Amino acid sequence: METTKDNNIIELRHITKTFEDGFVAVDDFNLTIQRGEFVTFLGPSGCGKTTTLRMIAGFELPSSGEILLNGCDISHMPPNKRPINTVFQRYALFPHLNIFDNIAFGLKLKKLPKDEIVKKVKKALEMVDLEGFESRRIQTLSGGQQQRIAIARALVNEPEILLLDEPLGALDLKMRKEMQIELKNMHDRLGITFIYVTHDQEEALTMSDKIVVMSEGRTQQIGTPEDIYNEPKNAFVADFIGESNVFNGIMTGKCRVRFCGAEFDCLDDVENGTMIDAVVRPEDVIITTPEKGMISGKVTSIIFKGVHYEIVVMSGKNEIVVQSTKKAEIGSEVGIIIEPEGIHVMIAEDTINRIESGVNRHYKLEFLEGKLKCDLTKVLPNSSFNDDEVLVDAHGDEIDTSSIKIIISIKPEDISMSDDEEAGILSGHIISLIYKGDHYSYVVRTDEDVDIIIDDEDLWNMDDYVSLIIPEDKIQYSLKK
Ligand code: ADP
Ligand code: MG
Repeated sequence: METTKDNNIIELRHITKTFEDGFVAVDDFNLTIQRGEFVTFLGPSGCGKTTTLRMIAGFELPSSGEILLNGCDISHMPPNKRPINTVFQRYALFPHLNIFDNIAFGLKLKKLPKDEIVKKVKKALEMVDLEGFESRRIQTLSGGQQQRIAIARALVNEPEILLLDEPLGALDLKMRKEMQIELKNMHDRLGITFIYVTHDQEEALTMSDKIVVMSEGRTQQIGTPEDIYNEPKNAFVADFIGESNVFNGIMTGKCRVRFCGAEFDCLDDVENGTMIDAVVRPEDVIITTPEKGMISGKVTSIIFKGVHYEIVVMSGKNEIVVQSTKKAEIGSEVGIIIEPEGIHVMIAEDTINRIESGVNRHYKLEFLEGKLKCDLTKVLPNSSFNDDEVLVDAHGDEIDTSSIKIIISIKPEDISMSDDEEAGILSGHIISLIYKGDHYSYVVRTDEDVDIIIDDEDLWNMDDYVSLIIPEDKIQYSLKK
């Protein structure tokens, strides 16, 4: 019987890529791929997907770490010696050659006998369902057909591994959906290992056996589509995979969590007082009448999505996205229910205070009624104030600040507490206190109903009313995307 280990085709061990300019594009990447698997690298543009793929293909050398193929280190093997072929987003076909010559190109370079080349090209065309297309010219093919030729050109080399870098990116939506199914069928039929790159989460979820979610050169989570969708490991994954509501919250008891101004039962038993991110999928939010809801809010938008409605409810300062088969009226008051199994509690990774604020007509933050000095020209790229003190963009056009949201970020260690009510800009009651070894971590619920985390070496008591002193230069402002 084969052991699992024998089934590993590719292993990436502690792969790091630092470019000449010092930029770390891939940082300690670890992954094992099994023979025949369909693995997808998923992440936003610039997160290092292509760089990782290029290292597997051999077009780029890792700065450190090793790549094993069938257990042997191939980190320094030239690309043409690896049993690996790549299909790129742009098909990179030769427009002046017919389809036969496009596919046969590499085989001719290898000086294979003519009749063998003919046989192999025929077989490759069959694999992509374009048998008999040998003498057609490239220009006569649709985008989808051209991409299939590009795949046939890679398959003709009989690779053990096929790398596909956003291969459907240039196709329109309908063609992309069709090709997704075709590629998946092709994978099942051929039994070749596919390593696929996309920034499209839906594509990754429908096609893959295993997904590697990446952000800024690091893997965030590796798992099956179900794992990643149902049990996202952190707020990045939750936010990136499928549409999610992510709320800042705090544990208030055993399997009790507070967010959106209410307390909910949940299934995750996380220590009382821990700051968390609560992730709630839109399909897990139930709309009811205001009096039956655990929280209530006002419907601000509704879009029909074919099978369901996507409804946005504003509850206080929180925007909640809901999927519902029932319609709701814009402007109506609704209640919201979230069952314990619909709440995914994730311990906040970087405990940093993030407060969201709108901007008023005088270009001041609505939070604390303008007390914070946020320079909008530093937050909005290419903006400036013109002679009339109007905020304008690079073209001199007035910027509409009514829809802008600013994130105010403050590190817990930059805040100190005082019992002099006048000392700081915010005041509130200590609602949580945890000893963290060398300091205490407090949560203060301010008079504005915002929960702020503070790291402090001194011991205060629960329920103490304190003023929070935050040095102006420690506050960071950024634009909410
Ligand atoms: P993705 O495919 O996920 O969009 P890439 O792997 O192409 O991302 O790029 C990851 C990051 O590395 C990007 O920020 C990109 O600008 C940077 N990068 C890529 N190639 C080079 C290079 N040759 N020199 C410096 N930086 C590079
Ligand atoms: Mg790329």
